[in-house]
Amino acid sequence: MPIDSSTVPRNRAPRRWPDEPAQGGWYTTAELAAVQEVMAHSRPWRIGWRGAERIRAFEEAFAAKTQTSAAIAFNGGGTALEMLLHALDLKPGDEVISCALNFVGTHLPVIHQGGTLILAEPDPLTLNLDPSDVEHRLTHHTRAIQVTHWNGLAADLRPFLDLAARHPHPVHGPPVVIVDAARACGGTTPAGLPVGAEGWATVFSFETKKLMTTFGQGGMVTTNDPALAERLRRLRTYGMSRHWGTNQQMTKAQAAVGLIQLDRLDEMNRARIAHAHHRTRLLGGTPYLTLPPTLSGGRHLYYRYNLLVPATWAGAGRDALMDVLAEQYGLGSIINDPPTYLSHAYIRAHTQSQACPRAEQLAARLLCPCLHPLISEHEEYEISDAIHQATSHIARTHRPE
Ligand SMILES: *Cc1c(COP(=O)(O)O)cnc(C)c1O
Repeated sequence: MPIDSSTVPRNRAPRRWPDEPAQGGWYTTAELAAVQEVMAHSRPWRIGWRGAERIRAFEEAFAAKTQTSAAIAFNGGGTALEMLLHALDLKPGDEVISCALNFVGTHLPVIHQGGTLILAEPDPLTLNLDPSDVEHRLTHHTRAIQVTHWNGLAADLRPFLDLAARHPHPVHGPPVVIVDAARACGGTTPAGLPVGAEGWATVFSFETKKLMTTFGQGGMVTTNDPALAERLRRLRTYGMSRHWGTNQQMTKAQAAVGLIQLDRLDEMNRARIAHAHHRTRLLGGTPYLTLPPTLSGGRHLYYRYNLLVPATWAGAGRDALMDVLAEQYGLGSIINDPPTYLSHAYIRAHTQSQACPRAEQLAARLLCPCLHPLISEHEEYEISDAIHQATSHIARTHRPE
């Protein structure tokens, strides 16, 4: 099956409101001061950019914030995921179940580390991995269930932990729950715990689009498993003279900025949540569109503002809506993300005949218009007007095939 170009974000021209805003591109004088302080600290040639104290301080602050016993900093979220999958020591035939609607970077390390990627369906309301679908796909080869907190909505991890406990692997015991929280840093799960506290390990990203950033790249793993924490520290530092490893360390400048961003995270998240709720109120009267669920208490951080068009508009109608929004109103949006096996040839080649029809159907109805905490209140009125008008236009003109 060829790669379906309609599942790949198409509108690349610059917009008044960009397709993919840099959520983390919001700095204050505190970050600037931290950078200056690190530069001054690094000036003496005997010291240079060495200095693990700031990285340790950032890790400790992150572990405290997520109520975990350990946080291990990496140079990126993708590299952190790669090392986490590496630490599972997958053997040929070992299976990892993951939602088909996902970021490609979540699936690539599963394949690269020798696992068999088993695609599963999303829940139609939350777009998070559906536990009942996972239950059908668990086998005695399952080593891990990978749960992504989709676009900022914190998934309930308890059903997956239950399923894992009830389906132990004959050699390794219950499959581990690996959480991808790249889009949900600072959130709270339905169990009332910080994102990062549950499961075997949770991966965070501080890339520029994420909810906080460390100079545009960076990552973290949280875990309560001391053996895993130690293994990850070895893996990112050339194996510490005993094991295989590589260099995926965070710099002290990233850590210094990360400490400030972590301090500001709740405030930044609150601002974005307020924008999303405001937008949902303004769009309340719009027929045709399914709006994202409104959840209180940091359970939805609105990394993306997901809209679903009616099933009769799936594909062509949704594409037309995105085009009108972009071209007539300057409002960029993206399909974040289509099923990975449709958008990435390597994943397609490694998942053969697997398909998730519900994920495909939802992705064909999905669009995520630009949302950023620094959009003004006045602009939010313009954006919701644009969505109202463009939607009415499609309702008048769209003819399903
Ligand atoms: C961004 C992202 C990652 C990877 O993070 P990088 O730091 O960009 O490598 C992984 N999973 C999800 C869901 C993401 O959005």
